[in-house]
Amino acid sequence: MRIGCVREIKPQEFRVGMTPQAVQEAVAHGHAVLIEAGAGLGAGFTDADYTTAGAVLAPDAATVWAEAEMVVKVKEPQASERALLRRGQLLFTYLHLAPDPAQTADLRTSGATCIAYETVTDRVGGLPLLAPMSEVAGRLAPQVGAWALQKANGGRGVLMGGVPGVRPANVVIIGGGVVGTAAARVATGMGANVTVLDRSIPRLSYLDDIFMGRLTTQYSNRAALAERLAEADLVIGAVLVPEAAAPRLVTRAMLATMKPGAVLVDVAIDQGGCFETSRATTHHDPIYEVDGIVHYCVANMPGAVARTATQALGNATLPFVLALADKGWRQACRDDAHLRAGLNVHAGEITCAPVAEALGLPY
Ligand code: NAD
Repeated sequence: MRIGCVREIKPQEFRVGMTPQAVQEAVAHGHAVLIEAGAGLGAGFTDADYTTAGAVLAPDAATVWAEAEMVVKVKEPQASERALLRRGQLLFTYLHLAPDPAQTADLRTSGATCIAYETVTDRVGGLPLLAPMSEVAGRLAPQVGAWALQKANGGRGVLMGGVPGVRPANVVIIGGGVVGTAAARVATGMGANVTVLDRSIPRLSYLDDIFMGRLTTQYSNRAALAERLAEADLVIGAVLVPEAAAPRLVTRAMLATMKPGAVLVDVAIDQGGCFETSRATTHHDPIYEVDGIVHYCVANMPGAVARTATQALGNATLPFVLALADKGWRQACRDDAHLRAGLNVHAGEITCAPVAEALGLPY
């Protein structure tokens, strides 16, 4: 198959759909890979890295869109890209169609076959192409929180790990899923005093087992949250209620009970945020203050570490890219119900029930 990969054009997006390693694997499977010149630069991959891996460089995105049978990307196609999609072409990328009727209409009009990373499933009920980004955002959360805690950034001036004779920071993580666990790993590694709140007792039990006494778990309810907020230096919001906006667990009134200069990192901001006072920010201007509490609410946290994020995403997508290229999308989806769950749009029709329901369209 002729696989194409373009430079991402969404603002502040530095990831790329295929790494040179992924290209090398695809070429070894007998496929041709066409890469837009400069596509990998944001993630630190040069054109020479791609040609060494066996890719052919295309001078511009239009050439890739015109020649590729399958285009592998990161972000949903922007309007100018959607205009280049064509009937029979395969698109494999994040789409997030449910809140995006304009994109959905364009994808239907194009006649292309569109498989969305975020709805591909796995055997244990997880979302294997979302999980790597949750891992990245989770590991980043204590790092950005530690930075925000510094005095010059408006924080309390508390060092995460303390020093001998001085207590470490109290870190409270709300939600112990993929993000929360990754955040706990880094926060405990920095030497902080970590508590994870969750509503799932099996999840708390799992965390208790794997961290072997290096953190405290607590069942999440109003009273527990109120207790922990009062003593927190850093609070990381990492809850997810599937197919719903994040619950607003920390109200503005609750900020008054916190220590001045404490920091809130709302990783769940992409689902609306779990603090009432959260509003989405950007990597250029990531923090703001409400009632003396520093808020960090960047909606695309993995973009800060585009190289790591690209590699993590590439590892997760590669088996699916190869299956799609080796077998064609029809056979690959017949053979793998989890990949089939990713099929969102085909030949003008919506082929994913939750997306159709969310948009009030026929399925
Ligand atoms: P997950 O499903 O693995 O974990 C969510 C956890 O929240 C679960 O363990 C669940 O039991 C818990 N939970 C639900 N309601 C709760 C409550 N009231 N109190 C305490 N815990 C509760 O999800 P995840 O992959 O860890 O993702 C978490 C959030 O991070 C999502 O909103 C996701 O979209 C977001 N995210 C954001 C970025 C970013 O760049 N900002 C990147 C990746 C993921």
